[in-house]
Amino acid sequence: MRARDGDRMVLTTYGRSSGFAIDPVEKKPLAHFHPGTAVLSFGTAGCNLNCRFCQNWDISKSREWDRLAAVAGPDEIAQTASASHCDSIAFTYNDPVIFAEYAIDTARACHERGIHTIAVTAGYISPEARAEFFAPMDAANIDLKGFTEDFYRKVTGSHLRDVLDTIVWVHDHTDTWMELTTLLIPGHNDSQDEIARMARWILAELGPNVPLHFSAFHPDFKMLDIPPTPPATLRKARAAALDAGLRFVYTGNVHDPECETTSCHACGQSLIERDWYRILAYRLTENGRCPSCGTAVPGRFGDAVGHWGQRSLPISASPTSY
Ligand code: SF4
Repeated sequence: MRARDGDRMVLTTYGRSSGFAIDPVEKKPLAHFHPGTAVLSFGTAGCNLNCRFCQNWDISKSREWDRLAAVAGPDEIAQTASASHCDSIAFTYNDPVIFAEYAIDTARACHERGIHTIAVTAGYISPEARAEFFAPMDAANIDLKGFTEDFYRKVTGSHLRDVLDTIVWVHDHTDTWMELTTLLIPGHNDSQDEIARMARWILAELGPNVPLHFSAFHPDFKMLDIPPTPPATLRKARAAALDAGLRFVYTGNVHDPECETTSCHACGQSLIERDWYRILAYRLTENGRCPSCGTAVPGRFGDAVGHWGQRSLPISASPTSY
């Protein structure tokens, strides 16, 4: 995705996307960022990781130009997000750190129109590039794909330490709202010991308020021989993380309204009830507080809950396609 052009290195995927869709923000997943709102999602092709379980492998592993059928510059994308009443734009599908210039310019164009920006990333980015990449991002969901170097090296082709450094750096040095996601793969990263160690690390380095999502694996790409994650595994992982002291832990990719509910960490009142990507009940006050005890819930909740629902709607943001 990069090439030499004269004396410069250029991003060959700039202005070309593998497609656009409008999704609920809950699908990113983000639970504490403008709940219920619509997000214009897009990505390019290629990736800097090599996850054996990649569910978007047809684009993350693509070296083919025909995967980049949609042509759209930053202003066109921002206009499309605005015209389709999206609250945010998400850089997703493949990792946006590899199309950073395109993502950054699009984020700036979106901010000019009052649209929020979301990076969905594995966080595998060098220290020199972090500040420029995260500065225009209002929110990020960063994958913490496991908690052993062995898993990161063998299953993702990257390194745990670099990802942990990015997560701590985003927490300590940016205003970006951050949530974490772990895809639990049976037999690979789902032991109770590994999950407890991960939760203790999050608590020690980031505190109790960073939401953590445990999502279900489905066989894909080079891991077709591994069974889907049992719902009981997700529940046990969530219980272990809550026991460790984290306040906001969710399950994903399964129907489990109890484990998708945001509750007040002070009085236990249920505040946001969800099923899959749909909001069933929303009780936060206008300034993001529990109506029972007045405790502020960490996050960016905006003035009102959105009503996009669980739909995913493919759209075109491109004046030309080929
Ligand atoms: S980081 Fe995401 S898009 Fe890239 S290979 Fe891994 S799962 Fe696929």
